[in-house]
Amino acid sequence: ADIERLYVHETVENVIPKTAFVEAFDDFEIPAELVGDGEQYGRTDAVVTYRPRPEFLDAGWVHCARAGYDEFDTDAYEAAGVPLTNSSGIHDETVGELAVNYMLSFARLLHVYRDHQNDADWYEPDYERPFTVGGERLCVVGLGTLGRGIAERADALGMDVVGVRRSDESVPGVSRVYDPEDLHEAIADARFVAIAVPHTPATEGMFGAPEFRRMRDDAYLINVARGPIVDEDDLVGALDAGDIAGAGLDVFETEPLPEDSPLWDFEEVVISPHKGSATNRYHLDIADLVIENARRYLAGESLRNRVA
Ligand code: NAD
Repeated sequence: ADIERLYVHETVENVIPKTAFVEAFDDFEIPAELVGDGEQYGRTDAVVTYRPRPEFLDAGWVHCARAGYDEFDTDAYEAAGVPLTNSSGIHDETVGELAVNYMLSFARLLHVYRDHQNDADWYEPDYERPFTVGGERLCVVGLGTLGRGIAERADALGMDVVGVRRSDESVPGVSRVYDPEDLHEAIADARFVAIAVPHTPATEGMFGAPEFRRMRDDAYLINVARGPIVDEDDLVGALDAGDIAGAGLDVFETEPLPEDSPLWDFEEVVISPHKGSATNRYHLDIADLVIENARRYLAGESLRNRVA
């Protein structure tokens, strides 16, 4: 297989600076070129993009610049014989650090102090409220790149990490692995439950009222995966009813999170604007992955992260 042109579709700017990204290919044998809509593609073109476009099905290979490729019609790619690759495998450190950030904040109340700081208020919480994460149980649901990145960091903090995954193969730092059918048992004793599965028909609405009732009432939910995995109305209901203590949320059913969402108003909800993987070197991580795959593609080897 050959690549004559390596196109970068402008929708990548949703997550990375497009010019810096194109420049990251300067030392690669095939120069990258920035394109918008209205371009025509052929089998010797490769495309790196954030959003799908129907015309990409005419290209030779398409790379999605994010881990979650749920917006792409994988059946259409398979029918067209066009390989589709995604950007998973690079978010363990970034998303792992964000998840740890939420947990440490909930434990040591940084978010609460910051709220009071806005009023120059020297706030004294109840003695019972702050705790250490060491020794607390974390249940990580989904043990792929994100899940392992979270588990490894939580383990380093002395947490008791359990997980949910479809195979019972052991995972470093995870003391016990539950089958997805035993989700309720897995989450029942956890102080923190972190969601790290992709959005699929099987995971949509995986967390709703029954799961929140099953969780401890002092437990925190962390969702760094995709919004629709959690039933947001049920989450608001559970927070109102005190079925769980709070939530660290990076992803939502509707993004940006609408201004009138009740989630904004809970002291024990920390909202980040889908920035789990957003750091100043994210474009370099994606470029490395694309270059590695371009080399494989040219050599006729199987592609890393092929999802269709
Ligand atoms: P990954 O493919 O490496 O891991 C996903 C894991 O979930 C796999 O091990 C898979 O077997 C497992 N899984 C799938 N369905 C399951 C189920 N029903 N029960 C239990 N386990 C199941 O992907 P990743 O890089 O870890 O990313 C996971 C998801 O997180 C992505 O699909 C994406 O939607 C989201 N994500 C969000 C951000 C962010 O910025 N917040 C960044 C990267 C990824």
